[in-house]
Amino acid sequence: MKTLIIGGGIAGSTLAYALRRYGHEALVAEARPSHRDTGGAFLYLAPNGVNALRALGLGDVPAVAGGFEASGMDFYNARGRRIAELDGSDDLEHYGARGVVLRRARLHAELADRAQAAGATFHFNSRLVELRTHSDSAEAVFEGGLALTADAVIGADGIWSTVRRLIWPDAPTPSYNGIVDCGSWTEVDLPDTTGQQMYFGHRAFFGYTVKDKTAYWFTNLPRRDEPARGELDNLDQDAWMASIRRLHENDPASIPTILQAARHSLGAWPLYDMPVLDTWHTDRVCLIGDAAHAVSPSTGQGASLAIEDAAVLAHWLQQNRTPRAMFEGFATDRKPRAERIVRFGRQIGARKITSGAGNLFRDLTLSMFLRMGGKATAEQYGYRVPDQPANDR
Ligand SMILES: Cc1cc2nc3c(=O)[nH]c(=O)nc-3n(C[C@H](O)[C@H](O)[C@H](O)COP(=O)(O)OP(=O)(O)OC[C@H]3O[C@@H](n4cnc5c(N)ncnc54)[C@H](O)[C@@H]3O)c2cc1C
Repeated sequence: MKTLIIGGGIAGSTLAYALRRYGHEALVAEARPSHRDTGGAFLYLAPNGVNALRALGLGDVPAVAGGFEASGMDFYNARGRRIAELDGSDDLEHYGARGVVLRRARLHAELADRAQAAGATFHFNSRLVELRTHSDSAEAVFEGGLALTADAVIGADGIWSTVRRLIWPDAPTPSYNGIVDCGSWTEVDLPDTTGQQMYFGHRAFFGYTVKDKTAYWFTNLPRRDEPARGELDNLDQDAWMASIRRLHENDPASIPTILQAARHSLGAWPLYDMPVLDTWHTDRVCLIGDAAHAVSPSTGQGASLAIEDAAVLAHWLQQNRTPRAMFEGFATDRKPRAERIVRFGRQIGARKITSGAGNLFRDLTLSMFLRMGGKATAEQYGYRVPDQPANDR
């Protein structure tokens, strides 16, 4: 079966690699000019994401891409009092892996490199504009006129998916979460942290991890009205950083220390997630990754779910059935899990929005919320893709 993957991001590159590993042809059409320097800040690859990479024979990718292990989270209120923790000390024992913090662009570049080295063909500068499906094939047309035909088309083109819009014009669009996220990595004289440090600051949520005198930090700025597309591109960095410093000036000392050292943030991203879609596939087309089920970054699960999707779909695509039957199997496996994690992310995001008197209630109930969330976290981290032995390291 000839499979055309639209979007060579984290899901698309991993799928291309997996298809080649199983001996199939893999063709990727990517809108960007290259897979290098694709931007973004850093992300957390959870134990389930690390395990899914291992199942595909890509277990060394997090380390090669410069990742470092970070388990568990400590939560503090605006006065610096520790109000809860998510213990990660047993992650290795429970899940067979620890989570990893790494730069998104490096993870992406490494996955795309591996796919190309395995024989996948990438067409860069190829932005999908039309998609026609027939009873026995699908035809994709790209800006500039390139046209490619395949037996099946996989929409791995991210949260603003063109495949989704062309095939399901009435499907819901991404839903704004009321938060603008920004962050970077910054040299700073602070000791290494064991896990992620999360602060419900006076006016905004702030998180960081320190490794080898570099702080990987982010702040979640509450903003009720949805920014217009492009409004936060090309910000004046001096003015933007000054406003972030002001927002956190009365928060515990480590936060102003990091922000004084930081010259810029790598971007300002309004946060979205995807409402539930009725279906992820037709006879010839199937969505994966953020195109199907973008989750709030608050879950730390977006990249991990994209990698799981790629591993599970590659498993189904070996079944020698019709594309529809294989897509059906894939969606039945994946939809309930992804939708649960999207819901979970929305609940976490709501707790990050600062609201005066509500904060005291949140501080008092956070431990209980995390205990309840502990079950969800165990389910997220404990997932194994098909064909993966439980004790695979
Ligand atoms: C600020 C921020 C922080 C995050 N933090 C985390 C985290 O801590 N942990 C975590 O797991 N995840 C995190 N994520 C989410 C994570 O980056 C994504 O969920 C993950 O990359 C999904 O992979 P994907 O391949 O589905 O989409 P993407 O990586 O977005 O890839 C989509 C690809 O499709 C291409 N494309 C788009 N349109 C077209 C078109 N018309 N034609 C051809 N190609 C096209 C794009 O150029 C891109 O390369 C974060 C995201 C953000 C924004």
